[in-house]
Amino acid sequence: MPADLVIANARVVDGGGNPWYRADVGVTQGRIAWILPPGSGAPAGRAVEAGGRVLAPGFIDIHGHSDLSLFSFPLAPSKLLQGVTTEVGGNCGWSAGPLTPEMERQVRAEHPRPEDLPPGFRTLGDHLASLEALGLAVNYGCHVGHGMLREAVMGSQDRAATGDELAAMAKLLEAALDDGALGLSSGLIYAPGCYAPPEELTALARVAYRRGRLYASHIRGEGPTLEQSVAEAINVGRQGSGPVQIAHHKASGRRHWGKVARSLALVDEVRDQGVDVTLDQYPYVASQTDLTAYLPAWAREGGTPALLDRLRDPAVRSRLLAELTHLRGEAEELADWSLVVLAYVRGHREWEGRAVADIAGERGRPAPEVVLDLVLEEEGAVGVIHFGMDEADVRRVMAHPAVMVGSDGSALGPDPIWGKPHPRSYGTFARVLGRYVREERVLRLEEAVRKMTGMPAARLGLTDRGRVAPGCWADLVLLDPETIADTATFEDPCRHPTGIDLVLVNGVVAAEDGRPTGARPGKVLRAG
Ligand SMILES: [Zn+2]
Repeated sequence: MPADLVIANARVVDGGGNPWYRADVGVTQGRIAWILPPGSGAPAGRAVEAGGRVLAPGFIDIHGHSDLSLFSFPLAPSKLLQGVTTEVGGNCGWSAGPLTPEMERQVRAEHPRPEDLPPGFRTLGDHLASLEALGLAVNYGCHVGHGMLREAVMGSQDRAATGDELAAMAKLLEAALDDGALGLSSGLIYAPGCYAPPEELTALARVAYRRGRLYASHIRGEGPTLEQSVAEAINVGRQGSGPVQIAHHKASGRRHWGKVARSLALVDEVRDQGVDVTLDQYPYVASQTDLTAYLPAWAREGGTPALLDRLRDPAVRSRLLAELTHLRGEAEELADWSLVVLAYVRGHREWEGRAVADIAGERGRPAPEVVLDLVLEEEGAVGVIHFGMDEADVRRVMAHPAVMVGSDGSALGPDPIWGKPHPRSYGTFARVLGRYVREERVLRLEEAVRKMTGMPAARLGLTDRGRVAPGCWADLVLLDPETIADTATFEDPCRHPTGIDLVLVNGVVAAEDGRPTGARPGKVLRAG
């Protein structure tokens, strides 16, 4: 059978976890047309000799944050060159819609390159249409963020929603699901998500469940409250009889290392009882978040403008300083300022890559004062990397059969204005395959690929992606399992991996020999 493109003599890792097998794979009109024994000799527009390298489904990054960065980097180099062919946004309670005019103004104010954003977007449908019009190298779909629903209806208030407010949120959610949102996400450490009681999330998840969609949660705590926070997420799925995805699973803070053994045991226990819960993880011992997430929830009520007003009020500032100096509970572990490294500071690019404690020491001032000054000067837009995890935990979570790979990073490219990002945006998938498969043997190659392809595809309802099988879209990556490696480090994060030779998106070569080709064959993926 003739084909547009044949990849010959490949070791096919099919995305379902099965042992690799050798085959020729033919691609026609964007889809995998056939899989035949090597040497079938079928004519092709282009033939690629795989020479025994691995042909896998393109990676599906089930936990990404490229919602806005794709407007600056539509070729998505940091993801594409890792072999990612489908990017999932709208995570951690934040999505690029629905937005009120005030929320949109704030989004533009905090964005590194507001001029790259489309002129007006309010709904998730607007967001998806804008990306579609722009044209992307990778496929893109997204969740709708609970934080957006809540903020659009009731601002950033620290209280439970009334019945009317909950109904208004549900209505906005319905509209986003109509627009094709893959699921509902929550970010329960961020304002205003952190103000929502569990019942609110259960009620809204039910709306998503009725439409066959997913509930994905950045849970309420990953330190002292890790287990109860996992239980809270599980309860949403149990009560709503729907699927739950727990994001970037980890135990953060030295005193909590090892707790993932118990949280994963809880997942096993409830899965045995029929609760459909799965997780994802990025393969690093450091996380990245906003510096404002370290401030107490009361200080963040009302959103960034209200937070900045509080920081300008000397009395409130001293109360905040006192709280930051004598942190208790969840925050105590988080604020070892020697482990918190600045990643994004527009006004002090020279501080990016340095620990908060280090900068405080240099300036002869207590770290909490430097933190409050930074938040005020940068109007809340400060990104930090936190070295809070245990390597043994990372391996334990990775090896669990219900855990997928998700970067928690963004599609980025060469542009210093984006600061010194977490290397996960550039290295996640290659790091799992190089370090944790080849070098440390935490996973078999086929199992690791399953966690990057077939498993997230099934989770997201992408029935014709994530597998090397006839009829599936030809999202494919050709890689060398002997040389694949991440090269992005915390010191030098914007470096692409080695060992990935070819990336096809919908049958079109989107990257070759470590460079995007410039093609934009990506599709916007809408559920329903
Ligand atoms: Zn998150």
